[in-house]
Amino acid sequence: MKKSLYLFSSLFLCAFLACHPVKTIVKAGLETTPVESSDDAADDPAIFVHPQELDKSAIIGTNKQSGLVVYNMSGEAVHTLNVGRINNVDLRHKVKVGEDRQIVLVGGTNRSDNSISLFELHPNTLQLSNIAARKLYSSVDEVYGFCFYQKEKTYAFLVGKDGQVEQWELFATTEGKVDGKVVRTFDVGGQCEGLVADDEQQLLYIAEEAIGIWKYSASPNGGSERIFIDGVKQNKMLKADIEGLTLYIAANGAGYLIASSQGNNSYAIYERQGDNRYIGSFKIGAGESIDGSSETDGIDIINRPINAQFPSGFLIVQDGDNRYQKSKQNQNFKLVAWEQIAHSFSQPLLIDKEYQVQY
Ligand code: CA
Ligand code: CA
Ligand code: CA
Ligand code: CA
Repeated sequence: MKKSLYLFSSLFLCAFLACHPVKTIVKAGLETTPVESSDDAADDPAIFVHPQELDKSAIIGTNKQSGLVVYNMSGEAVHTLNVGRINNVDLRHKVKVGEDRQIVLVGGTNRSDNSISLFELHPNTLQLSNIAARKLYSSVDEVYGFCFYQKEKTYAFLVGKDGQVEQWELFATTEGKVDGKVVRTFDVGGQCEGLVADDEQQLLYIAEEAIGIWKYSASPNGGSERIFIDGVKQNKMLKADIEGLTLYIAANGAGYLIASSQGNNSYAIYERQGDNRYIGSFKIGAGESIDGSSETDGIDIINRPINAQFPSGFLIVQDGDNRYQKSKQNQNFKLVAWEQIAHSFSQPLLIDKEYQVQY
């Protein structure tokens, strides 16, 4: 009797866990204005942190049908830039373009002409202006994923839809514009999009959509050597496609690598350090006025105390199915307070709102 009861409860528990593989649910505190294009349009966000007044920070999102959108910290679209089909976007805060001139550099993969687009973000007006010295055409079949990497120099990584990676070294021209040249290429193997570089650790993480997450050296002489972090065959909490990647950067090399597990509408968290141990997964569920997120492409995160709503920073994710009450809206981005995510795990995650990355 006891044995059968044990067997029954074990089976019940297994069935329950199989149906509910991700139990941790958080809620978005803010969502952006929907993008202007319908269907699959919003894709990838990048966070700008204002150097003096944190509440004047902003979000740059891609509308992959038409260009970039700048949102203020109320989620309102304050600028729209129709510059082509920019798929993914990234940002670095301190990029030198002259003896005494530093800019906020925004870049992305432009599928309209298979190039890298580069802009200067003006911190107070939140306007974007072209900073590229010329058209930076890629040789990959179709530009797709994008991220910056900054050490002594500033680099851009892009991955083509077929998994071909180009590492560009970027440099300032005498006119104060930004030019670039390809300094490294390698092939991941299959379709990839999510990319993120850890500037401090000199690492590049790439999500191969149907397979999992790879780690490469971000150094231009890093070759094609790589380490496999985790994948859909190894971890039942992951379901293809594996999409956006981002890094929560804390002091002393601590922090987390976060991945969008698009196939089961969840986000997987790994340690930033060492072998990137898997910690757990969470979902963003529906709140009172803001719907949950699903089918997420790009993500980004910041640890800093941005405002009263996000005193320990936030995670921002693209929402593939945006709703207002029950009615379908154009896609948008959802913001979740980091402390809510951190406290949703039985062993709370690190909250470091002081550490400022140097880029
Ligand atoms: Ca994708
Ligand atoms: Ca949604
Ligand atoms: Ca995408
Ligand atoms: Ca909504």
